Amino acid sequence: MSNVSITFLGGAETVTGSRFLVESNDAKVLIDAGLFQGLKELRLKNWDEFPVDTSTIDAVVLTHAHLDHCGYLPLLVKQGYKNPVYLTSNTAKLSKVIMQDSARIQVEDAKYASKKGYSKHSSPLPLYTEDDVSKTITKFRPIQFRQKTKIARNTYVTLFPAGHILGAAFVLLEISGEKLLFTGDLGRNQHPILVAPDPFPTENISALISESTYGARVHESPSSEFTDAINKTINRGGSVVIPAFAVDRTEVILMKLRELMEQKLIPKVPVFVDSPMALTSLGHYRNAIQNADVEVRPDFVTRYANQDPFGPDTLQEMRSIEESKKLNNPKNSCIIVSASGMGTGGRVVHHLKQMLPNPLHTVLLVGYQAIGTRGHALENGAEKIKMHGELVDVKASIIKIEGFSVHADGSELIEWFKKVKKPNQIFLVHGEIESASIFAQRLEIELKWNPVIPAPFKKYEIASKAQEVSPAYDI
Ligand SMILES: [Zn+2]
Repeated sequence: MSNVSITFLGGAETVTGSRFLVESNDAKVLIDAGLFQGLKELRLKNWDEFPVDTSTIDAVVLTHAHLDHCGYLPLLVKQGYKNPVYLTSNTAKLSKVIMQDSARIQVEDAKYASKKGYSKHSSPLPLYTEDDVSKTITKFRPIQFRQKTKIARNTYVTLFPAGHILGAAFVLLEISGEKLLFTGDLGRNQHPILVAPDPFPTENISALISESTYGARVHESPSSEFTDAINKTINRGGSVVIPAFAVDRTEVILMKLRELMEQKLIPKVPVFVDSPMALTSLGHYRNAIQNADVEVRPDFVTRYANQDPFGPDTLQEMRSIEESKKLNNPKNSCIIVSASGMGTGGRVVHHLKQMLPNPLHTVLLVGYQAIGTRGHALENGAEKIKMHGELVDVKASIIKIEGFSVHADGSELIEWFKKVKKPNQIFLVHGEIESASIFAQRLEIELKWNPVIPAPFKKYEIASKAQEVSPAYDI
């Protein structure tokens, strides 16, 4: 055994709340500081005191800007964390946007709940505010991709493009002589904008900590269902609302809509992006393409040198709340792309509340819907959904569209793993238990690996690669 251990403080047996604490005699490093989302019992965990004295943590490393990977950071800082946060520069920009939005939503929800009196608490509080976010971003230390950086005594980190969303990295952590590899959320080879994930950077891995969100799945390409659903809705005079993760999914959806309109496969109706966070993120994507960032596909940069890839000519960017309110229950057919992607908060909740009771409209679910979210309930045929303390009838068409995922599926992960020597230990995280178990079985059968699905909050010793015993022979 080495003197290195890992404790799964979140993202264990669930897809949210990624927080992995690595400890050795030299340093204490937290990989990701994500918020729990979905089921109430999970969300309540965000209020628990952090299980470790935050002032003893030497460094935090962020894989990417999704809320379930960065959304807990302001709470960590609030509880006394003072050291740097290492991340890529695009993750720095995008996580700032995401945390600010999260703070705003929490403050608004708390106010709304106390105004309407539907909260069980007499004065509901937000988890954190924009002030906490401002303090957090002063800790950011952006580092370049593929550049090994010392972050604590005998501790180094290298970030590699993961092809998941802009800025996303997988992480090689070298600590006290052991190499730990965290996939973060690993993307797919065919992201329309981003380069494919880098290959495994080393053979000699003590522990691999892999995501398993879609471990039980094999993705299909986006089908004609997307086009058909839009056409059907517009033909009957309805509108389409697409709850989309503000970062990346909005960009991919806008590109798709522009292509379909150019090919005259769908009519040119107004497309509204109604999410300040999505619009800021869109700006960061446009900049990354203009600057030809290393993680943007070079052919994409060339192709869109003189054209906005995200702008159907009917695109309208809705920034103010007044603009957003005008969209409520639209009379003329349109497409509304709004966050959050699982209907848990943000402006899309207001659109869903207005549009769900009307059978003319359609809700297109284009992303992962975690258990316990409104999106998950809709995906599973709920007839009524609770919103702002009221039950809302679901009469609109609800259509789940596969194929827009920016997570590698089980087969894609196995292809990526095939090229390396078996790590000493493999931990499967960031997947519901069923998905992780099915993926574990595949790894056992196809790669002869023996993965562990770690228990939440349990500490695991890391088996040293250096001490690995080669097979002994009797002479
Ligand atoms: Zn992600």
